[in-house]
Amino acid sequence: MKIAILSQDASLYSTRRLKEAGEELGHEMRVINYLRCYMNITSHKPEVYYNGKPLESFDAVIPRIAASKTFYGTAVVRQFEVMGVFSANESQAISRSRDKLRCLQILARDGIGLPVTGFAHATQDIDGLLDFVGGAPVVIKLLEGTQGIGVVLADTKNAAKSVIEAFRQLDANILVQEFIKEAAGVDLRCFVVGGKVVAAMKRKGAEGDFRSNLHRGGKADMVKLTPEERTTAVRAAKSMGLKVAGVDMLRSNHGPVVMEVNSSPGIEGIEKASGIDVAKKIIEFLAKNAPSGSTRDRIQ
Ligand code: ADP
Ligand code: GLU
Repeated sequence: MKIAILSQDASLYSTRRLKEAGEELGHEMRVINYLRCYMNITSHKPEVYYNGKPLESFDAVIPRIAASKTFYGTAVVRQFEVMGVFSANESQAISRSRDKLRCLQILARDGIGLPVTGFAHATQDIDGLLDFVGGAPVVIKLLEGTQGIGVVLADTKNAAKSVIEAFRQLDANILVQEFIKEAAGVDLRCFVVGGKVVAAMKRKGAEGDFRSNLHRGGKADMVKLTPEERTTAVRAAKSMGLKVAGVDMLRSNHGPVVMEVNSSPGIEGIEKASGIDVAKKIIEFLAKNAPSGSTRDRIQ
């Protein structure tokens, strides 16, 4: 097969590993900087141009779209879909997953366990919001935050009110969430490919930090998932319409609760912690599913 990895930087670990894994399995792999793809969207014969030439005869694309480039990146993926090229993740599913609030609303609709979460616009409604989530301590999250930035633990109702008011003053959108104390600063990352958990790790925050993000000095380790955790991860990915997903969850007293579903999950941390060749699993999934006809994806 001929597979394009849509990535801004060929030297990134995940991009390199996907290219290597594809080549080892005998596929023709090419890294394409999606920000340099351009297209005539009105052409009867849909095409994507790169360095002055059309990109032709690809069987599949693997989108590795940066969160800050979602708009342009998903437009490029969509153009490949229009051309009938199979995508590891659909453009629509990528856009959907990038909106944390939308993500939680969809997961809740599908009955997936979540931390009790509230959302409000006006500061006058803070009391009601705090009541929803069972009062302090609460976790307050900036909707636009990533890598643990803008995730704050407020121990008391007064602290929570001050933080919420400060964020709202800046016109930032925030979620207020029940604090899962029993998770003890550990979260689970489940890597789902084609409806199966292919690898998992647990991450523990730096000493004294309730956030387990590796970017914040957290450490990753192997973990054995319970059947319920596996099922939750698979259901969460399916509900978001993602074929490749990183599902983050916490072990709560009321079972696994999902915090987030990532559409371009990093491969480095999970391969190192689990010892599993995750890149190979992704390529094998494409090899199995891309040839069986074109993508079912449509523009909507
Ligand atoms: P980001 O997307 O910025 O990484 P997350 O929502 O994943 O933000 O939160 C970062 C970290 O904070 C999580 O990995 C987890 O360890 C911790 N955390 C987030 N929400 C809660 C919560 N409701 N209860 C306990 N810990 C939480
Ligand atoms: N790629 C990183 C991960 O999967 C960052 C996640 C994100 O915020 O998209 O852990």
